[in-house]
Amino acid sequence: MPERITSDWTDRAACRDADPRLFFPADGEREGQRKWREVKAKRVCGPCQVQADCLEYALARNEREGVWGGLNPVQRAREADRRAALPPPPKPALVVEKTCTRCGVVQPVAAFTKDAKQRDGLNPWCRGCTIEASKRRRAAEQAVA
Ligand code: SF4
Ligand SMILES: [Zn+2]
Repeated sequence: MPERITSDWTDRAACRDADPRLFFPADGEREGQRKWREVKAKRVCGPCQVQADCLEYALARNEREGVWGGLNPVQRAREADRRAALPPPPKPALVVEKTCTRCGVVQPVAAFTKDAKQRDGLNPWCRGCTIEASKRRRAAEQAVA
């Protein structure tokens, strides 16, 4: 995270006071230097508490240079490929709601298994009616007591 970005997670970055040259390659960097630099950068990232935020940020911006979230560019490209190959998340089930004609409570249709009518006019298969029925029962018990 060598660049200054203003975002709440950057305030907690373990690399805040680290040498930015650890995270990005210098011009003409040789392979051996790169490896060693990345090892040192990843040591800073290891215990960083915002590693996940940092990685998401870099992946979202398709950052091609430097160490972000503990990963070098090749590792981030692999992670991006892995994510792209994942099946799409299942769509949330459609919750169809219905207003009970007896108690007026809006609830998922699954709450009604039948549409029966009791003598008190409430539907015993409706959650709203069940609550209403127990309220009435309690009120009647209190009136007697
Ligand atoms: S994961 Fe590494 S680069 Fe990212 S904020 Fe933490 S220390 Fe800095
Ligand atoms: Zn009801």
